[in-house]
Amino acid sequence: MALYLYNTLTRAKDEFRPIDPKNVKLYCCGPTVYNFAHIGNLRTYIFEDLLRRTLARAGLGLTHVMNVTDVGHLQSDADEGEDKMALASKREQKSPWEIAKFYEEAFFADCRKLGILKPHIVCRATEHIKEMEDMIGCLEKKGVAYKAGGNQPNIYFDTSKFPSYTDFARLPAADLAQGRVEADENKRNPTDFVLWFTLHGSKYPNQIMKWASPWGEGFPGWHIECSAMATKYLGEHIDIHCGGIDHVNVHHTNEIAQSEACLGHKWVNYWLHGAFLELDDGKMSKSKGEFLTLQKVIDEGYSPMHYRYLCLTAHYRGPLKFSWESLDAARSAYDTLCHKADEWRAAAPGTAPVSPTAKTVIAKLDAAMQDDLNSPVALSVLWEALRNDALSVADKLAILDAADSALGLGGATLSRPELSPELQTVLAARDKARHEKNWKAADVYRAYLTSVGISLKDRPEGSSWYVSPIPARTPEQKKTEAIAAYDTLTENGFSLPQDGSSNLLKIIDGEEMAEPSSPVCYADKKG
Ligand SMILES: [Zn+2]
Repeated sequence: MALYLYNTLTRAKDEFRPIDPKNVKLYCCGPTVYNFAHIGNLRTYIFEDLLRRTLARAGLGLTHVMNVTDVGHLQSDADEGEDKMALASKREQKSPWEIAKFYEEAFFADCRKLGILKPHIVCRATEHIKEMEDMIGCLEKKGVAYKAGGNQPNIYFDTSKFPSYTDFARLPAADLAQGRVEADENKRNPTDFVLWFTLHGSKYPNQIMKWASPWGEGFPGWHIECSAMATKYLGEHIDIHCGGIDHVNVHHTNEIAQSEACLGHKWVNYWLHGAFLELDDGKMSKSKGEFLTLQKVIDEGYSPMHYRYLCLTAHYRGPLKFSWESLDAARSAYDTLCHKADEWRAAAPGTAPVSPTAKTVIAKLDAAMQDDLNSPVALSVLWEALRNDALSVADKLAILDAADSALGLGGATLSRPELSPELQTVLAARDKARHEKNWKAADVYRAYLTSVGISLKDRPEGSSWYVSPIPARTPEQKKTEAIAAYDTLTENGFSLPQDGSSNLLKIIDGEEMAEPSSPVCYADKKG
């Protein structure tokens, strides 16, 4: 089965032909670790995760490399403003090294929660200064870098010496230059960019992250890190390079110029770019101040996988509008999937061989992903199969497993969390009350379960439960519900744990209610 990927280089869906099928070389631009990732950033890493899974399912081996930018990324992508790390360091009164460590850990924690596989190699800019110096030295030797600006000049890349500079963005140089920089009189051409910032005589005299270099003490520009580290870990020819769509005109254009000027040949065969996540008021951006983090989504009562599922419902190259309503719809679909998975696992005795029909469905699902990572079509193939009564439970489970491997639906955790013993007691009490047609008691239990984020669906054969948003209530309302549930429980002979773990007793005692700690289907695999 052929794999097609939309290549920004050719502006076409190209058949993917790896340089070495046993080791596809994949480089993805990583985060600048000066703040939490916003969920728009995370959408890009979900798309890259889908790419990695699709390559693997197509039988290709791969090395996935991602950088972590912990120095040199200025407020604007084009050499303007302050170093983002230095700004964060001032904002939080911590050293830039502490800032970098904290936000790098936070970033990978977000990725784990979203079921994003960790790259095989993660490389930090601050640990590859030597490689960057070597590449800058190479560019100097080739005559495409120059020094400019006072006694201790910066080193710039001369874009006029790289004739195909505008090819990638397909924009005239004047358009590329527009909006890039405040006039930097040291630049020979408006599109030139800094390879190395020196401190003395520059606008960064207080930079904390700095290194001695052949050009004086300073720090590297942002773009050079990706060229230097990608080449170090993946060699001179790379199969695929990914990033957000905003990287095309500046960052990736500059990466190509540096790498190809130094190497003397084509560097990357396929460039893939993910579209933005949009809010009602436009592109989601940290520069606007308030931004949505994954933690905020979790705090609103959603699981990270609900957000991942939402991302899967749109093609990675198309814009995705974020709203809480669309996240609600994703939650409902994802939770139904988890619930079905649970039911089928309980019903399927052991493993059964996969039928030819199920194999056909799985092939269709893979075909969708191999058609430029068409996850919305893959999801529709999945749902159509799951609703097909002609398929056995074992087949449905096999299809779900395949979809999980292709789309990253939460793996072995694609099922509901364990209920606490207390909630199990309440649930059993409610079932008993329903059986005895004690509707008043059943309603009290339901109200309490709803209040801790468990909603119920009653069926003739018994009731099922789902994790759902916790309704906003006053502490008084919470307490009234808890007392009613407690009274009903004890009147019916059920006892609650007295070891301090009981939510009911905590609420009755006026302590703040402990919310369910782990959202449904929460993927948090290590590594
Ligand atoms: Zn990059």
